[in-house]
Amino acid sequence: MPVQTTWTVDHACGHSAANDLSHKSADERSGFARWLATRGCGDCWRAARAGDDADKGAWLEARRAAEREAADAWTQRYAMPPLEGTERAVAWGTRCRHILVSAAYTALVVEGELAEDDWQGVEEAARTVTRAGWWIDQRDSAPDDLPELVEAATGRDRPSENPFR
Ligand SMILES: [Zn+2]
Repeated sequence: MPVQTTWTVDHACGHSAANDLSHKSADERSGFARWLATRGCGDCWRAARAGDDADKGAWLEARRAAEREAADAWTQRYAMPPLEGTERAVAWGTRCRHILVSAAYTALVVEGELAEDDWQGVEEAARTVTRAGWWIDQRDSAPDDLPELVEAATGRDRPSENPFR
């Protein structure tokens, strides 16, 4: 009698299910069926996976919402102008600006030697850079490079007094 291809397995989840093991060679089926018995049935496994994905999605969504809220609150508190760009770029750029500028303040003023007055100048310059893409581009920059970065950006954006320079 040929080795059966459909094995009824009592799964760890308590369900009993018929498993088609025809893709396994005849001498591997009983071992594979024993291994299957240590796991949940196909339905439970898929349900658990879907639950994980849903949890992960909800967690990511909640984290993004919290980041967005923090960035928006900060933007208002420091009277940062709205950024320009596509809707997605503006949301992302606003987050990047919040993270970089607050980290720069910590690095330069709280932990560094920069005076509050000098920081005002940096903040003022940062305020004039409103291209969302620029802030997104700086997302991996070192926070204490911010003064140099905004200076480069504002120096370039400012119309030159001498157009032939
Ligand atoms: Zn089950």
